[in-house]
Amino acid sequence: GSELMKGKRGLIMGLANDKSIAWGIAKACADAGAELAFSYQGDALKKRVEPLAASLGSDIVLPCDVTDEGSIDALFDGLKERWDNIDFVVHAIGFSDKNELRGRYVDTSRANFAMSMDISVYSFTAVVQRAEKMMNRGGSCLTLTYYGAERVMPHYNVMGVAKAALEASVRYLAEDLGKDGIRVNAISAGPIKTLAASGIGDFRYILKWNELNSPLRRTVTTDDVGNSALYLLSHLGGAVTGETHHVDCGYHVVGMKAVDAPDI
Ligand code: NAD
Repeated sequence: GSELMKGKRGLIMGLANDKSIAWGIAKACADAGAELAFSYQGDALKKRVEPLAASLGSDIVLPCDVTDEGSIDALFDGLKERWDNIDFVVHAIGFSDKNELRGRYVDTSRANFAMSMDISVYSFTAVVQRAEKMMNRGGSCLTLTYYGAERVMPHYNVMGVAKAALEASVRYLAEDLGKDGIRVNAISAGPIKTLAASGIGDFRYILKWNELNSPLRRTVTTDDVGNSALYLLSHLGGAVTGETHHVDCGYHVVGMKAVDAPDI
């Protein structure tokens, strides 16, 4: 690996298994020399996350449910016991009731709208609020978003609305924290088959569509996202903040189905 992230310490939130986008980012950071801490949601994931963390040389694995303010405080208190400073935080967390990731957006319930916004939008602000206090020499905060924030994508529904709000919060956070040398960015990843994505209706079709119609004519891997995350998390992205960076094989620039793409 390179030495790009040598001497940097970062918190990775949202690792569920080795298919997670958080895993692609964690591997890239560790390979570039970063020291990592991990948070996981709920006891069931603890035994999955601990060995993955250990394989990257990390023994800082702490619980955090982002719907609970006390749980976020406990995470950062636990982190402070081990480290007096952090350089970066990765927020790879999102959630919505999968019954509303199909059918029509107009049928979204008030309860699931509020929950999706809480977990998928507010939690990033809540995390950055705490992370800021541990970023004593500047820092970089990164979240994950999707093109459904900008354009209507099949079945993405309330998550599209949530991601639009997440991208707006990235811009506001960037302004608030820029004076302290803390950068805030999002990666808009192309579709990847993960646990969270499996809740989205017709996801296989969406994957295939992207493969056939993106300029690079392939789907994105979690390693692709990890490599691009390195740029935003390291000094290479030192003048980049408030940005939503597309890591989608170019899909977002396309205006029409490719002429060589078969019907699927
Ligand atoms: P994933 O299922 O591996 O990760 C989602 C994570 O969110 C899990 O680790 C889960 O534990 C965590 N989470 C959910 N509710 C939580 C809560 N209340 N408290 C703490 N953690 C909670 O799936 P992923 O695809 O790697 O998702 C990571 C991020 O990437 C999400 O924000 C997702 O919307 C985004 N994203 C995914 C894709 C894709 O196609 N997979 C594309 C663009 C963006």
